[in-house]
Amino acid sequence: MPSHDPIRFNQTTLEGRELDYIRQAIEQGHTSSSGPFSHKVEELLVTAHDAADVLLTTSCTDALEMSALLLDVEPGDKVIVPSYTFVSTALPYARQGAEIVFADIEPDTLALDPTSVAGLLDPAVRAVITVHYAGIGGDVDGLISVMPDDVELVEDNAHGLFGRIGAKTLGTFGRFSALSFHETKNFVCGEGGALVLRDEGDVDRAHILYDKGTNRRQFFLGRVDKYSWQDTGSSFGMSDVSAAYLLAQLEQKEIVLAKRRAVFDAYVEHFSEVAPRLGLTLPSVPDDRSPAYHMFYLLCPSRSVRDTLLAGLAERGITGTFHYVPLHSAPGGRKFSSRQYDCPVTDDISGRLIRLPFHNALTTEDQERVAEAVVTILEGLT
Ligand SMILES: *Cc1c(COP(=O)(O)O)cnc(C)c1O
Repeated sequence: MPSHDPIRFNQTTLEGRELDYIRQAIEQGHTSSSGPFSHKVEELLVTAHDAADVLLTTSCTDALEMSALLLDVEPGDKVIVPSYTFVSTALPYARQGAEIVFADIEPDTLALDPTSVAGLLDPAVRAVITVHYAGIGGDVDGLISVMPDDVELVEDNAHGLFGRIGAKTLGTFGRFSALSFHETKNFVCGEGGALVLRDEGDVDRAHILYDKGTNRRQFFLGRVDKYSWQDTGSSFGMSDVSAAYLLAQLEQKEIVLAKRRAVFDAYVEHFSEVAPRLGLTLPSVPDDRSPAYHMFYLLCPSRSVRDTLLAGLAERGITGTFHYVPLHSAPGGRKFSSRQYDCPVTDDISGRLIRLPFHNALTTEDQERVAEAVVTILEGLT
């Protein structure tokens, strides 16, 4: 086997003025939260979502924690989440004492299945949290049509910034949506997130929770003559140094999306023809969806083929990865739910899905090497 440089699964890249901006943030002297770079990023994200407000947080997990506090989720409440997701989709609500209810996903978009959700609704359900897996919009209309009016929709939009369903941007359907700027996401600043507020009525309280339970913002806006402790909260704010890094990334939005789209399309090109013969399924993008191109995955015919493929790629210096381990059967999932759940699509997909190397700087040559390796390994099995 010829020796090659390793092909990494993910790699962060400088896309523009990151280093200049970080330097400026430090020199300006306002390096804590709510500084000049933070305001620019917030403005950009408010515009992108036509939002009432956006608050930059230290992570997507934190942004979802804020949503749990804003909804006053408490013991006795239930929150429905997909089983096929990252822990952070469920944890913030579990931490507030809610009972977690696990719904299954649709076999095509791998997002929350409205039929599964409909079967789990009862009067204790306060919220449904949806994830646009891989940056491909889920069936939000279907979800809304089964949800009673007093149940809130929250979008864990860690994968989907700038994706769309029809003309509507992902993250604008729910009362709250949460973004991630973790180093593994499309736009990065190390660790970071944002809470997007759709409703004007949530803005004042969100800022109080954000500022350690104080009405500090109202003081700075001149609405009160001193600020004091008002409510629950925490220290959720992103450093302006991180916001400087993030602004530079978001300024290159079109370029980053184009690079990621090119990687996605090239994989589709490589695999479309051979997929039926090799028993592979490619990601399904419904006609009315514009993805955010967060990742590229393949569904293998079985778990053993997937595991063989992962091992074969590793031998060739290529890092592929599996993805979510179902939450409904994980120790934490059982701890925060009151009964066992059946999520057959989640179990099936989790066992068969492999993610291929995907990042802004992945070269055409490296992608060819990945595709050839996948085909060689799978052909060797037959
Ligand atoms: C990455 C991710 C998160 C967590 O994001 P952090 O910013 O690391 O807290 C939450 N949900 C999903 C679906 C994710 O992929």
